[in-house]
Amino acid sequence: MSGFDFGSWEQAYGGEPPPWEIGGPQPEFRRLADEGEIRGEVLDIGCGTGENALLLASRGHLVVGVDGAASAIARAKAKAEERGIAATFLVHDALDLGGLRHRFTTAIDSGLFHVFDDARRKRYAESVGAALGSGGVLHLLAFSDAEPPGPGPRRVAEWEIRMTFREQFVLTRIREATFQLNVESGSARAWLATLTRL
Ligand code: SAH
Repeated sequence: MSGFDFGSWEQAYGGEPPPWEIGGPQPEFRRLADEGEIRGEVLDIGCGTGENALLLASRGHLVVGVDGAASAIARAKAKAEERGIAATFLVHDALDLGGLRHRFTTAIDSGLFHVFDDARRKRYAESVGAALGSGGVLHLLAFSDAEPPGPGPRRVAEWEIRMTFREQFVLTRIREATFQLNVESGSARAWLATLTRL
């Protein structure tokens, strides 16, 4: 761990399900899987309690999910066991993915990037770059600037995604998407960005 304080994340998993816990995978990732866009070995970064990772593992991918919150990882492991799905879940800092010492084909980020401040965004881009081989792909789902200001994570503009990752990635596709939430409004407007590792 690189000195990141995961206390508030642990707290988020300690009581009522947090807004992003919808009891299943984010539909955008299910759609990507259905479209054949998920390839090879998959790293789920900031996997929470593992629903997206478990979906992709059930489709036959080797999947590693990492999260800084030990309670979320414990829950993800328990779900994998209950469902008889083989997937690996690790407590690990998303800002130190090189420390995993493995190059994945695909990485997914469901609601992690949009929590970082500017300095951490850069470190994150470098970190993801160290976990993907050349030609590897990051699929990133983040609140977009089309979502009105309000509670929740930062709203992210397309250019911010492009700029943050430009040293090691090209933005190969971006589409308007939806981030499902378990709150009254039901969902937020999001980007689904596909970034390819140079
Ligand atoms: N991907 C999950 C969780 C999204 S919430 C889902 O779609 O349900 C963001 C997650 O990122 C939380 O689980 C939080 O614990 C984790 N997180 C935040 N900062 C992190 C960091 N630096 N390293 C690893 N995980 C982090």
